[in-house]
Amino acid sequence: MNRREFMASMAVGAALPLLAKAGADIRPTRFKPIELPGLEPRPDFWKVRPQEIIDICERATKCSRREIIAHTPLGYPVYALFYGDFPDAPPQTNWSAGASSTTWKNYMGNPPPAKQTFLLLAGVHGAEPECVAGTMNLIQELETGRDFRGKTHRELTDLIAKYRFIIVPCANMDGRAISPDHLRGVAWHDFRAASQGTWKDGSLVGWRGSKSWFPLPLDKVSYPGGYPNADGYNIMHDATPGDIRTAEARGILNLVARWRVDAVLNGHSYEYAPSAITPSAVDLPAKVERVNAISDRINAAIHAAGLRAGKIGANRTPTSTINLNTVLALASGALTLTLECSVSFDRPIKPPKVKPTRTYTFDELMEPLFIAVREYLADGLNRPFLVRGTDRVFGD
Ligand SMILES: [Zn+2]
Repeated sequence: MNRREFMASMAVGAALPLLAKAGADIRPTRFKPIELPGLEPRPDFWKVRPQEIIDICERATKCSRREIIAHTPLGYPVYALFYGDFPDAPPQTNWSAGASSTTWKNYMGNPPPAKQTFLLLAGVHGAEPECVAGTMNLIQELETGRDFRGKTHRELTDLIAKYRFIIVPCANMDGRAISPDHLRGVAWHDFRAASQGTWKDGSLVGWRGSKSWFPLPLDKVSYPGGYPNADGYNIMHDATPGDIRTAEARGILNLVARWRVDAVLNGHSYEYAPSAITPSAVDLPAKVERVNAISDRINAAIHAAGLRAGKIGANRTPTSTINLNTVLALASGALTLTLECSVSFDRPIKPPKVKPTRTYTFDELMEPLFIAVREYLADGLNRPFLVRGTDRVFGD
């Protein structure tokens, strides 16, 4: 390891040995994986189990870097694979100071990276495997030219080549370790139980209910769901500056800041037709407007691909949400956008729990991920994601 590599390794996840033996020292789960009777077998291309994720990441040779950015409470490695050139030394300042300094290049480097840097982040919620499955297939295509189905996404991979492209294929390996391979065809109650868990009396913790706790009190549950990590933390809401609780969130934040990430796609799933969700208003107005426009573009493409019956209106009112996307945006100035794939059905959101109108195939469950990355990257080539600022000299 030369000096530059040493400095780089110190800057990202300082406590993490770069050559850590994946699979070593992984502890058994405290809770047994949930069993859902009648769950159909997954197809061969649906690679979402922790050991499969580890094996695929360890086998990757076309990437220019591979890092373990965190270890989960159970000891699983959280991988980042880097495609493209990443020769840059660590920033001499952070984005907060750099954005206010005499030149934005103090953060971005001089010269700054020749290409924009994109992060595809999947599996923050372990019970939501669709974007993990899609990401595994995308890695396979980047490595071998074809995904696990033998398919290609030539337009997408051509776009990726125009970026520095970082993949974190599964942020929440602990949640994955106790989650089913998929939730296709699963009834609403079982979907909720698998996702956010059940209390000791058997009642559902619930989606919003799970957010009443940070961490989820594991001594009060019969099953914690695949939403949190093994300590009960919902990584998506590990977003309090100065009080980041999980190694997973810390690793992702360090990664984004270190490599000057310009845009993030955060891949999730829910129980409805797929969509890119409305951005939070908690960011610079110009960035919120841009993310809203990219979200509209992705939703139009998902609709055009026949993956949702209902069209989503354009230019929606931003939300008041505060989550991991909020702090990632602060870490490097990045645009941040969440995609929700469907775990199974197209069903109306209101009233809740009504009969689904459609059950997606396994191919269709992960297809929104390919569409979203393609549209996001295409938009960034039309117009750079960020105007980092102009070189400026203050008068005093
Ligand atoms: Zn989620």
